Amino acid sequence: MKYLQLEIAEPLLIWYQRNKRDLPWRSNPTCYKTVVSEFMLQQTRVETVLPYFKNWLTKFPSFKILAESDENEVMKAWEGLGYYSRARNLRKLAIKINNLETIPKTQKEWLVLPGIGPYTSAAISSICFNEKDAVVDGNVVRVLTRIKNIETEFKDGSQAVKILTPLANELLCEKYPGDYNQAIMELGATVCHKQKPLCILCPVQKQCESFKNQSVDQKPKIKPKKIVKKEVNRVISLKKDRILLHKNPTEYKRLANVYEIPTLEQTGLKNIETMPFLLKNKRSISNERITEFFYYYKEEKDVSSQENLHWVQKHDLGRITLSGPHKKWIFSLIESCESCI
Ligand code: SF4
Repeated sequence: MKYLQLEIAEPLLIWYQRNKRDLPWRSNPTCYKTVVSEFMLQQTRVETVLPYFKNWLTKFPSFKILAESDENEVMKAWEGLGYYSRARNLRKLAIKINNLETIPKTQKEWLVLPGIGPYTSAAISSICFNEKDAVVDGNVVRVLTRIKNIETEFKDGSQAVKILTPLANELLCEKYPGDYNQAIMELGATVCHKQKPLCILCPVQKQCESFKNQSVDQKPKIKPKKIVKKEVNRVISLKKDRILLHKNPTEYKRLANVYEIPTLEQTGLKNIETMPFLLKNKRSISNERITEFFYYYKEEKDVSSQENLHWVQKHDLGRITLSGPHKKWIFSLIESCESCI
């Protein structure tokens, strides 16, 4: 295995040094920058993260400043990036770290901290402290199943990660684990694409068994998630300069403390047929395809006493944290609403 380890690691590391993308968390790297980037990059594309990362570093340049910040301010800086529990956990993590005498180093030490799972702990311990822990995410699964021509059908991505972690650790470059981890992820992100991988540019093409037997497109074999379709009716109500919004309680996890236009059920109203229809919008979250229908409710009875409903001043919309899609849609919805009045 040592031989195979070198055979893959060496060309991969050379390629990485020459081709790595110039990303802000890679220039003058610090543990704080790595942690923030790893949190932001979970389920999110690099291009989406870039402006958020820059803004975050300006607002919260260190664990200490983040730990001392107000949660609302932190949530606001995350607005639009989705999966808001990451922002809350990042702040909780900063508070923990701020109270420690020394910064944790090993994967085991990181793993017990808020918001940190096996992938993030391995990324931080290897990139920041040169610990020998292999990272395994979707990109690494793709690269490994192709290089090793793995035919197993995984029931989902998490099972693939679990099964491939020992192999990833066997192949890990012991001398430069952080760079190796970044290199294999970079290869998955920029060369070994899901569709049409750029094998011609690949530094481990010679070692890639799926390339040799021309079965690249069939790896990895992961059972596709069933697409779930959902429909949601939402109600917009305006009162002078205010709009009625729902502040999601903590049990909403991913969207806790984030404001949204309330659903029909949240307003306690019934007859949607009597309300003017405004527009329909679609969004996707993972395997869910959600269609949202927006209706205008011209207040006959005050529904703001319903749980978690609040009248929010329109000029405060820039201050509170709205869910990404609602942030995008709210002003055109208010406009079409006002034309109904
Ligand atoms: S040769 Fe192609 S399939 Fe194999 S690792 Fe490289 S890019 Fe991926």
